[in-house]
Amino acid sequence: MNKRVEGCPLCGICEREPENVLYEDEHFAIIRTANLKGHHERVMLILKRHVSDIPPNISYDFSWVTNTPDIRQHLKEIFGYTYKAVIMEGKYGSYPDQWHLCITDLEPDSEDHQQILGTPWLEIIDIKEWK
Ligand SMILES: [Zn+2]
Repeated sequence: MNKRVEGCPLCGICEREPENVLYEDEHFAIIRTANLKGHHERVMLILKRHVSDIPPNISYDFSWVTNTPDIRQHLKEIFGYTYKAVIMEGKYGSYPDQWHLCITDLEPDSEDHQQILGTPWLEIIDIKEWK
């Protein structure tokens, strides 16, 4: 049983917002954000445990996670309507205490477009090329 931290918006989110869970396995989940901020899709890939780094017994790093075939396939389907999506580290956002990535399209009229341009991108998903 994973320890939940009171007041953390990511702890227990899969149970609280089942309608926004697009993928879930033992360790990770893909959650559509409640506020899409003008994007067609905007999701978080979260570790279902309240720690700021992925424990070494689960994986090596973010690229290991995004290369997991099931997760990759889901991201490709979620963003299949567009050409590119970007993966950003969650630690620049509002919930730095629980490991997550933010993944969004590049809609220029979105509320957070400037913020996205100002945040380091871990990976660009070129949807049509992404295998
Ligand atoms: Zn948490």
